[in-house]
Amino acid sequence: MPEQQPIVVVGGGLAGGKTVEQLREKGYAGPLVLFSTEPHLPYERPPLSKGYLMGESERDEVFVHDAVWYDEHDVELALSEQVASVDLAAHQVRTTSGRVQGYSNLVLATGSEPRRLNLTDLDAAHVARVLTLRTLDESESLREWLRPGVRLVVVGGGWIGLEVASAARKAGAEVTVLELDPLPLQRVLGAQVAEAFAAKHRREGVDLRTEVTVAGVVADGEGLRVDLDGGDAVGADVVLVGIGISPRTELAEAAGLDVDNGVVVDGRLRTSDPDVFAVGDVANAPYPRLGRRLRVEHWAAALNQPEVVAGVIAGGDATWDLLPYFFTDQYDWGMEYHGFADPRSQRVVVRGDLAGGEFVAAWLDDEGAVTAAMHVNQWDDGDAVKELVGTTLDAERFTDTGTPLG
Ligand SMILES: Cc1cc2nc3c(=O)[nH]c(=O)nc-3n(C[C@H](O)[C@H](O)[C@H](O)COP(=O)(O)OP(=O)(O)OC[C@H]3O[C@@H](n4cnc5c(N)ncnc54)[C@H](O)[C@@H]3O)c2cc1C
Repeated sequence: MPEQQPIVVVGGGLAGGKTVEQLREKGYAGPLVLFSTEPHLPYERPPLSKGYLMGESERDEVFVHDAVWYDEHDVELALSEQVASVDLAAHQVRTTSGRVQGYSNLVLATGSEPRRLNLTDLDAAHVARVLTLRTLDESESLREWLRPGVRLVVVGGGWIGLEVASAARKAGAEVTVLELDPLPLQRVLGAQVAEAFAAKHRREGVDLRTEVTVAGVVADGEGLRVDLDGGDAVGADVVLVGIGISPRTELAEAAGLDVDNGVVVDGRLRTSDPDVFAVGDVANAPYPRLGRRLRVEHWAAALNQPEVVAGVIAGGDATWDLLPYFFTDQYDWGMEYHGFADPRSQRVVVRGDLAGGEFVAAWLDDEGAVTAAMHVNQWDDGDAVKELVGTTLDAERFTDTGTPLG
């Protein structure tokens, strides 16, 4: 009998960790290898800009499983081992250290990496003060800076930038957020809801500057100066760059898989090669309930897509049909969002106290159907908010807080 080739998982984030878990859950008993560039056990990233960054939760809590679990479930963890290439015809991956590993099925869970600023004019000591936030190590580096008196400049008012601003203000740091658009989060939430988030940050003491473009970051004594187009500048002890992420598609692309804003997968999360799957941030998947494809850079896709892949590999007829979902915590505002809206072309209807941070918002297409719904601090209505997506909304009834949402 020829030796059975393992299922190989590339990536040690939530999607990779969940893939090996789900394969074992669905009864796959053969060999299983997970490669990760990072030295850590597979882990989740949301706490890195929230509780863990603020020192409110323990390091152990970020891991998908502890080391014993991988031992007990006979999963080989090849940590600090980067997969450099995939040979689809030979069913092999090759790592940068020269290991050649055959596979029966391959699951790409390579995630994303942060976009960076060009810092070629800075020396190493100053470069060390310009941070991104993607890894456990980066969260720990940033945490060192979150204390009273430190001047933090956040470049980019997206989810990560705003969560870091919130954590830093709670720690007593002086925070400036620099945003290109008229409002942070405007592209995702539209002006009306984005304005509520902007006002909240200003009330919490953030110096929020919008419609500004960073021209460069230069040394200023031991610290930094962030130069803006038009001549303004902001002094900083530390800079956090949160200007978006790019999916890590290089492996897939070089192997000849279909790549288009992520690795293109079908409803079973299979790539253009029938033995290769992609999950999490890197996967561009169909969302049947929205009638479109999306690459969702959020926790829930990485959490739930592995179950589908494991089901398909186990011979079932699993398909991916969940709605996109994400959450954020900023100060005392906890938010959940279901679905997907384009606020430039879709109308938003709000129920509750927008400015006070207790509201539900729904986005409607031309026919009045809800394409996305979110709430801030309306946890009792959490399920009802999700159920709104796909329904046709009676706006008058919806905005009347005297009537139940569901
Ligand atoms: C700070 C932070 C806060 C977040 N907060 C939220 C939140 O509140 N809500 C929410 O919904 N989402 C949040 N997200 C997004 C969420 O964490 C991501 O969607 C999720 O991490 C994606 O998981 P993933 O496993 O697909 O990819 P990743 O987590 O990026 O993991 C990919 C892993 O693959 C490894 N890898 C890549 N290439 C190779 C290779 N060639 N060989 C070996 N290993 C490789 C990488 O090193 C990495 O360990 C947050 C993200 C960050 C960074």
